[in-house]
Amino acid sequence: MHIDIITCLPRLLDGPFSDSILKRAQDKNLVSITVHDLRDYSTHKHKSVDDYAFGGGAGMVMTIEPIDNCISHLKATRQYDEVIYMSPDGTLLTQSLANKLSLYQNLIILCGHYKGVDERVREHLVTAEISIGDYVLSGGELAAAVLSDSIIRLIPGVLSDESSAMTDSFQDGLVAPPVYTRPAIYKGWKVPDVLLSGHESNVEKWRHEKAVERTKKKRPGLFKGD
Ligand code: SAH
Repeated sequence: MHIDIITCLPRLLDGPFSDSILKRAQDKNLVSITVHDLRDYSTHKHKSVDDYAFGGGAGMVMTIEPIDNCISHLKATRQYDEVIYMSPDGTLLTQSLANKLSLYQNLIILCGHYKGVDERVREHLVTAEISIGDYVLSGGELAAAVLSDSIIRLIPGVLSDESSAMTDSFQDGLVAPPVYTRPAIYKGWKVPDVLLSGHESNVEKWRHEKAVERTKKKRPGLFKGD
């Protein structure tokens, strides 16, 4: 998979992809990520990428021209499955959306800033709009990193134990059951006996029961039946 991220603040994306699972995924050539500085595509003499809103009001608006230039440049090199704009009013990111996007080959992710992008970008240049939750961030970069992480960890080979992504919360309509590790007793707080029993099917049964119990309690809206 290849992901191109378009931003006017590329340094905000230095961190998320340079460590741990997302770095290893790139080292193993399972994904490549290129961050593009929108200012490089501005024809303005001060490399600006925003302007005042028509009709007045507080806040700058990101101009269409550099965004169009950048997307056109990228499209000349690759065929994209989606051009995604990160937006608080977009489709809410869920595990099933991440699963779907993880099957794609090439994605563009556009990060907004200020009051957002000129509406014509949304009308003519993007094919999908995704939100990471009902709250407003100051820019799309952290949201793009969240989206990319949720997708990349699902690409086969990225996680060392592939089954571990499949047993995460939401994959089967349930949240994950509790997990424990050594020591078996800490300050008198004990790990459930069944996990120490070595009895695989009892462990599986316990985990399923706990996942159901936890889903009903913490995410009742998710629960679809026993
Ligand atoms: N005025 C806009 C918010 C702009 S916030 C509004 O009220 O809807 C600036 C940028 O941050 C947005 O263009 C978007 O790219 C990003 N952003 C903010 N919150 C986000 C969220 N919940 N999910 C995804 N992107 C978000």
